[in-house]
Amino acid sequence: MRENKITQLKNLKFNKIREKVKEIKTELSEQERSVITYSRNFTLSLSNYCVNQCGYCYYNYKIPKLNSEDNVILLRNEQIVSYIQEALQYNCKEALIMSGERPGSFQEVKEELKKRNCSDFIEYVKNVCTYLLDSKILPHSNLGFLTYDELMDLKKYNASMGLMLEGTSMKLFKKGEVHEHSPGKLPKKRIKHITDAGKLKIPLTTGLLVGIGEVIADIIEDLHLIKNIHKKYGHIQEVIIQNFVRKDKIPYQPKKPIAIEEVLRITGIARIILENEIAIQVPPNLIAGFEKHFLDMGVDDFGGISPFTLDYINPKKIWPQIDNLNKICNDKGFTLKERLPIYDKFVNKEGFCSENIKKIIDNINLDD
Ligand code: SF4
Repeated sequence: MRENKITQLKNLKFNKIREKVKEIKTELSEQERSVITYSRNFTLSLSNYCVNQCGYCYYNYKIPKLNSEDNVILLRNEQIVSYIQEALQYNCKEALIMSGERPGSFQEVKEELKKRNCSDFIEYVKNVCTYLLDSKILPHSNLGFLTYDELMDLKKYNASMGLMLEGTSMKLFKKGEVHEHSPGKLPKKRIKHITDAGKLKIPLTTGLLVGIGEVIADIIEDLHLIKNIHKKYGHIQEVIIQNFVRKDKIPYQPKKPIAIEEVLRITGIARIILENEIAIQVPPNLIAGFEKHFLDMGVDDFGGISPFTLDYINPKKIWPQIDNLNKICNDKGFTLKERLPIYDKFVNKEGFCSENIKKIIDNINLDD
């Protein structure tokens, strides 16, 4: 039965996918289906020390950087203050807090943490979040795999959190494949994190990284997996379909990077599987020039767009100007609207948003 479903979906022709997507979107009200969202954010990259070595990763401290400043043991307090001041000038509502996985296990990071009077990395993250919340900016942390207790500890400091499922195929862990040296990417760990976030009622962003050695059947399985976890806990607010983009100096150098047509197909298939239950996001800097085709494939959201910080994962892929994106959306009959890192439907959903975060949200005007 499951095999049948996978075969049916993977054999769907491009036009058929588009038709089905349109049918699914029609189930929404006209107002709901005409809005495409984005979040005005900035990124605080706290540390790029990471216990994994994913073949496609440029961010990890082990990959040589053009600018030595780009390797961060622990972001300095004065840098954090300066980023926040700039973010306030640009009226950013969200801070994406990112790091490599378990940076606190490195001696260099431990020493820095000690200098800042932090017992561990999580305490440091909480301090950064507190400073952001005091500045009326909503944190969204994506720090790699976290334990149940760590997630519980971070929940009240974050409006939402993120962890990409990426891909659960064990083929990716074989010799020479992208996750060969990435124990933190083992499916059981990622699934546990996503499930624990559900148990803790944390609004979660997850997603797939496509074009890293998987096949379409793996993607279909992973989308069903996300849907099933969400069915149980109702906490997944969006699924990102993120395409691998070629970069210099990293180990993974496929002869043919994933084609944009394939990313479009995957996005449409994601809409068919997830229906209208979970938003679908594509990073606009990675699909530039094809935005209108993605709108046809049922995308709801263009994610965090920063007016002044880089996409640290793909630093050469510049964020779009909101005005340009707005025009593309308008030309296709959509309205581009700013949203917060926590989707509206989770703000008042019992147990999903702490009172301290709600108070800040109450005072944010998205029309500013
Ligand atoms: S876990 Fe993230 S930061 Fe670490 S190597 Fe993999 S992609 Fe890079």
